[in-house]
Amino acid sequence: GQHPTPQQGGPQRLAGVDRIVAIASGKGGVGKSTVSSNLAVALARQGRRVGLLDADIYGPSQPRMMGVNKRPASPDGKTIIPLQAHGVTVMSIGFMLKEDEAVIWRGPMIMGALQQLLTQVDWGPLDILLIDLPPGTGDIQLTLCQRTALTGAIVVSTPQDVALLDARKALDMFMKLKTPVLGLLENMSTYVCPNCGHEAHIFGHGGVAAEAAQLGLPFLGEIPLDLSVRLAGDAGTPIAAGEGPVAEAYARLAQRLIA
Ligand code: ADP
Repeated sequence: GQHPTPQQGGPQRLAGVDRIVAIASGKGGVGKSTVSSNLAVALARQGRRVGLLDADIYGPSQPRMMGVNKRPASPDGKTIIPLQAHGVTVMSIGFMLKEDEAVIWRGPMIMGALQQLLTQVDWGPLDILLIDLPPGTGDIQLTLCQRTALTGAIVVSTPQDVALLDARKALDMFMKLKTPVLGLLENMSTYVCPNCGHEAHIFGHGGVAAEAAQLGLPFLGEIPLDLSVRLAGDAGTPIAAGEGPVAEAYARLAQRLIA
């Protein structure tokens, strides 16, 4: 006879995890991973139990950005114990690889790895699990949206046209897969010169808010283009762990996500 597998019967929930939110982008390099780590840290600072799953299998950034990288323990050879950093429970395929080691796998192996990261990791009780997706609209996004009970997705874009063009495709994918879009976030928005305070719009400004308005989707705010964001990410202590205007912007975003 037919034995139902966990994949059947609609999207899977993770035991003990209240909300699963994917952070997506159309294009690489717009700051999706940076937003994921900072939002996770901001949520943790507000007392939320937060998990961060780095699903960017080909280019995992979270070991570097969260400043944590060692092979996770697996006492029973099956359950994987995730790592902890800045109050966040973190899991990344990067923990299993050397930092300059490439993942040269075909689709089915990638899907297997993703499935393991979701279901074999002991996420523990969480208020929210953030998933840092790879850029674009490929296999990983498709499988995740179809198999996992996502609360919704946040789409990150920079304001310039080429990024927005791709962001629109990501939005189109979520709509077609019936994954709720929680909103759009503009990253690398206004640049304030650290010397003279002059404001410049290197990648433009306001494009993402306009796009959100046109699509009738929530606009979640803007994060400035700021050297300290990049330095903090490279150093493994997200800017949201400190004080200042960017940390405050992430605190507002975190509050908005779990009201
Ligand atoms: P993605 O995940 O979309 O590929 P990343 O988060 O890896 O993008 O960001 C790409 C680079 O841009 C990183 O070096 C990161 O530190 C930097 N970066 C991201 N957001 C900002 C920002 N708001 N201000 C300055 N640098 C940023």
